Amino acid sequence: SDHQLVYPPHPDQMDWSTLYPAYVAPEESQPEANPSATTTEEEETPVKVKKLTQDVEVADIGCGFGGLLIALAPVMPQTLVLGLEIRVSVTQFVEDRIKVLRRQNEESRAYQNVSVLRANTMKFLPNFFRQGQLSKIFICFPDPHFKARKHKQRIVSTTLNSEYAYAVRPGGIVYTITDVPDLHGWMVQHFEAHPMFERVGVEEQEGDPCVEIMRNATEEGKKVERNKGEKFVALFRRLEDPVF
Ligand code: SAM
Repeated sequence: SDHQLVYPPHPDQMDWSTLYPAYVAPEESQPEANPSATTTEEEETPVKVKKLTQDVEVADIGCGFGGLLIALAPVMPQTLVLGLEIRVSVTQFVEDRIKVLRRQNEESRAYQNVSVLRANTMKFLPNFFRQGQLSKIFICFPDPHFKARKHKQRIVSTTLNSEYAYAVRPGGIVYTITDVPDLHGWMVQHFEAHPMFERVGVEEQEGDPCVEIMRNATEEGKKVERNKGEKFVALFRRLEDPVF
């Protein structure tokens, strides 16, 4: 449950160095120990957080077994991509999967740009990402929570969309896909109603290489394919911040 989840009090205090060891900034550009930085609220020991040479820019929310991450890694080799997953064993599986791929590709340094983190994205997203840090968020085949009384557990809602709008920079894209027509309608309705998002047109959507990957590389996408099910895609652009 959540009390076992480790999360930084602020994105600046997140230690990414173990997730992306190939991107740790050289020693001379590391900051001095920050006495106020702590790993968890209970633990008051100051930690020195190692900085990376660049930030995570792409997040896969509820990444499951990591198919999307693995497929995106070579497509955006200069970008740090992070999968977020709430289930412990599934997160561990993805971690091991990436470890093996990194070892097999030591020379080319492929897969160093993808990693996975255990997190409840419904609660702690702003603890990990600064405002406008992300260029893309993927929400692939989220749990449908069919019953009306379970709708509040859906990963797309007015409140959560505001968190996505906070983390994604203007011009950035939120990608969604599901095989559940009702959930597709729900996601479209909630993003279209949100003042910080607009739906991306079909032409642009189909021209985006990430859409094909989302359809075919996710474990759920493959399952739906085997069962000859339909997949519903919708992309939403983060609008410019309003000028007051
Ligand atoms: N995206 C993957 C795919 O397309 O193959 C997995 C889809 S699976 C149906 C939904 C995933 O979201 C599950 O692995 C589940 O554990 C994860 N999940 C559900 N709620 C979450 C939350 N609040 N934070 C992080 N992950 C969550």
